[in-house]
Amino acid sequence: MDREDLIRELIERVAGEVGLIVYTLHPKREFTDEEIAAELGVEINDIRKALFYLYEIGLADYRRRRDDETGWMEYYWRIRYDKEDEVLKRELLKTKKKLQEKLEAEEMSVYYLCINGCVKVNYEEAMDLNFTCPRCGAPLEYFDTSIVLENLKEEIKKIDELIAKIDGAKRRARKVSS
Ligand SMILES: [Zn+2]
Repeated sequence: MDREDLIRELIERVAGEVGLIVYTLHPKREFTDEEIAAELGVEINDIRKALFYLYEIGLADYRRRRDDETGWMEYYWRIRYDKEDEVLKRELLKTKKKLQEKLEAEEMSVYYLCINGCVKVNYEEAMDLNFTCPRCGAPLEYFDTSIVLENLKEEIKKIDELIAKIDGAKRRARKVSS
């Protein structure tokens, strides 16, 4: 998955399809929810909701102003494309943390199984039992979780690579602008 796919997936997850459409519009300047609703032919409440979801993850900003004629509060929105990397990185780190916790839990859970299927015990219990089933006397065998661990490690590695890519792009951008 590349960066573009990730950002789309994130936006669709938090702000739905409407959020994604607004985001991909790339409005150059500030806009009101009414303007975008009219342009897209979407209910204003749906637009507003999507924008607030984007705001919650840091991808949109607004300022409020009272309309002199109607007395209503108007929201002037701006999509924060400049925050994309920051938000993406934060979400990736969140996912990474979850995967790491899962990995740690899996690493701790070493099991031994009776070859006849009577018991499933952890390492300490297996040691105490001398790796012998307390019911049938058959040997207890190590249950291999290495594939699960490998998969989790692979996912974490991919996230690290994506974060490194984002950081790399940021460093390059800074060099150009300085
Ligand atoms: Zn047994």
